[in-house]
Amino acid sequence: MTSTDVSSDSYVSHGADGSISAPTPPTLPSGTSLALLLLGQGTDENSERGVDCPGDLPLASDPDLVARAVAAKATLGSKVFVLGHHYQRDEVIQFADVTGDSFKLARDAAARPDADYIVFCGVHFMAESADILTSAKQQVILPDLAAGCSMADMAKDHQVEDAWDALTDAGIADVTIPVTYMNSSAAIKGFTGEHGGVICTSSNAERALRWAFEQGQKVLFLPDQHLGRNTAVLQLGLSLDDCVVYNPFRPNGGLTVQQLRDAKMILWRGHCSVHGRFTAAQVDAVRERVPGVQVLVHPECTHEVVTKADLAGSTEYIIRTIEAAPAGSAWAIGTELNLVRRLADQHPDKTITFLESTVCYCATMNRIDLPHLVQALESLVAGQVINRITVDDTVAKYARLALDRMLALPEVV
Ligand code: SF4
Repeated sequence: MTSTDVSSDSYVSHGADGSISAPTPPTLPSGTSLALLLLGQGTDENSERGVDCPGDLPLASDPDLVARAVAAKATLGSKVFVLGHHYQRDEVIQFADVTGDSFKLARDAAARPDADYIVFCGVHFMAESADILTSAKQQVILPDLAAGCSMADMAKDHQVEDAWDALTDAGIADVTIPVTYMNSSAAIKGFTGEHGGVICTSSNAERALRWAFEQGQKVLFLPDQHLGRNTAVLQLGLSLDDCVVYNPFRPNGGLTVQQLRDAKMILWRGHCSVHGRFTAAQVDAVRERVPGVQVLVHPECTHEVVTKADLAGSTEYIIRTIEAAPAGSAWAIGTELNLVRRLADQHPDKTITFLESTVCYCATMNRIDLPHLVQALESLVAGQVINRITVDDTVAKYARLALDRMLALPEVV
């Protein structure tokens, strides 16, 4: 495994176990996309950051926003189905017909063929997945097109094609199976389907990896190195030395041909900018601060944080764990702050603490606010579809193949 792993696409560097060290401001060649989402500073039509939305946005100060959303939704009736990801703001989630993680929401959308319009309160890759899984007559709308995902942005299709060429040159492409996290663009999902791979979620990553190792000898895991490493090492029993990190900003991923041939897990150098902020020191600090606390984190956190925590699992797992916890128990949770706050509100009989010491929202999830939701709904009432998300037919065909392989995996118990 590479011991140090700094590239020009990120403000952080990663140690051999995926831990994050001091910030390193990036230097970008001209013409490349922005390093991170800079809110209100430019757009990038070729990335998950999306583009500016057309039309006039209602003022955030409008006291009638809630009433306007209620009225528009009532007028649309069963023609509209509003999906709300767990990380959405309360002001938005109150209008969701269903809530869930990205894959549950995409399946929920597919189960409502009567709804002409799917308003997806989440981020861009989730709306793409909903478009892939719903019928051609249904239209998927993302209230703010700038609601992208920094992790999904870390794997571009041309970079992944280059990586596959490197694996081909090393003579290992035909024994390598791509396993791609849901948090990826439709193009990367399509690549995965075309090359015999499978999509996974944080709930079924173990099953997806076991399936992949039955099909081939190696896995190319995209785009979240932490979920890939944590699953391979903690659930499949591989060692850290079985993993290498492929850096798309370096020739051959920054790896020698021999390193590629020796590795069982080739981890794409991507991470979640929210979950990547949690540190092992924060786990130690909360244990000192809150007697008897149990630390519960998402597997997008670094290996160091996950191994220090008491429990790790998907968003749905975190919710189930808190629901089942006895009254009086104390928890420090390492995931997005909107969800942690909501869990604390819903379970006043338990002590629920945010693992980070500072505020840690997902900036792109928070792009979806009440003004954008009202604008999307009122536009539909007026017969105008704005901010529609569509996926190219060929990309959708292969992405669907990779998603169907995931659906064929054994059920998560
Ligand atoms: S929480 Fe992380 S993975 Fe999820 S949308 Fe935000 S940046 Fe992407």
